[in-house]
Amino acid sequence: MSGAARPTVGIIGAGQLGRMLALAALPLGIRCRFYDRVADAPGGHVGELVVGEFDDLGRLREFARGVDVVTFDWENVPVESVRALKGVAPVYPAANALEQSQDRLYEKALFRDLGIPTAPYAPVDLASDLEQACARLGRPGILKTRRLGYDGKGQARIRAAADVATAWGALGGQPLVYEGFVRFEREVSLVAARSRRGEIAYYPLVENAHEHGILAITRAPYAHAKLQREAERHMRAVLEHFRYVGVLTIEFFVERGRLVANEMAPRVHNSGHWTIEGAETSQFENHVRAILGLPLGSTTTRGHAAMVNFVGRLPKPARALAAAGLHLHDYGKSEARPGRKLGHATLVAATPAERERRLKAALKLR
Ligand code: AMP
Repeated sequence: MSGAARPTVGIIGAGQLGRMLALAALPLGIRCRFYDRVADAPGGHVGELVVGEFDDLGRLREFARGVDVVTFDWENVPVESVRALKGVAPVYPAANALEQSQDRLYEKALFRDLGIPTAPYAPVDLASDLEQACARLGRPGILKTRRLGYDGKGQARIRAAADVATAWGALGGQPLVYEGFVRFEREVSLVAARSRRGEIAYYPLVENAHEHGILAITRAPYAHAKLQREAERHMRAVLEHFRYVGVLTIEFFVERGRLVANEMAPRVHNSGHWTIEGAETSQFENHVRAILGLPLGSTTTRGHAAMVNFVGRLPKPARALAAAGLHLHDYGKSEARPGRKLGHATLVAATPAERERRLKAALKLR
């Protein structure tokens, strides 16, 4: 990059993920321009923010004019909006990967086609489909909306026969998928980046704990050589299938010692936030490097890290910053709402035992 040709990245969505992308890009001399529906979105604190609807194709094209590459921090950006940027600026990850990850049914079919184990599943459009799916796949199970589900929203558990009608009452009338319940030992995820040159960098697997369907704690690394190899094989299959460019995340269950894919996200991920302080190159920097065709950075860990989400409430900064080794991230959101991710803390320690001690202190801040 010469001084005269510093690139600009356009980011559709200016939430905390976009904001952290911009914070990683800035030291490399790279600027970010955001597009979001709301004027006070967190990304706007660290870059120019264009306000518009996600389906306003004219405004999106105007936003993308003059940027070197466009990416997104939200996987529910309408695919047509991404396709409409053709000829204006390259978009990474590409629309086909975005499209497939927006629908749980297509996502599961892709996993199956690539030989990646998933929970048993069946599409559900009618009440009778649900009856048949429960009979075939058994109970317990989970009924999920195919589209727009996140953080456990748009889901209903079915345990007893009576739950079938309740679940249908809550979610029926839209495309659904019924999944057999996975009796998992733990939940893990893999974050990886593939660059425009086809280079791939994998982070170590991490272990995730959810509360009320929302990620609460990540511990990194989840050091397990066999599962790491398995996860990287699955990740490579997906990345190469799409000739994917950027960061991709796959969430897995560990069931009886093997990986079962739950879902993928075509973007940087909450379970990768620890990489800002806990890895030699963060997921955010590697995403920016990947989409600009720059060499990827090392994913080596700097120790044993943990990430704690602050959901609905932020700790008082003076109290949080008194905790040893705690890195505080306040996303700058203007309004605190229950269930809303407002910030996180990262801790890095030399040993797992020390990490646990620091984590215990951090958990008291929630
Ligand atoms: P999701 O929105 O698919 O990530 O689901 C949110 C959380 O619900 C997951 O992190 C799991 O804890 C749980 N969950 C989702 N699907 C299943 C399943 N098929 N079996 C067991 N637990 C599940």
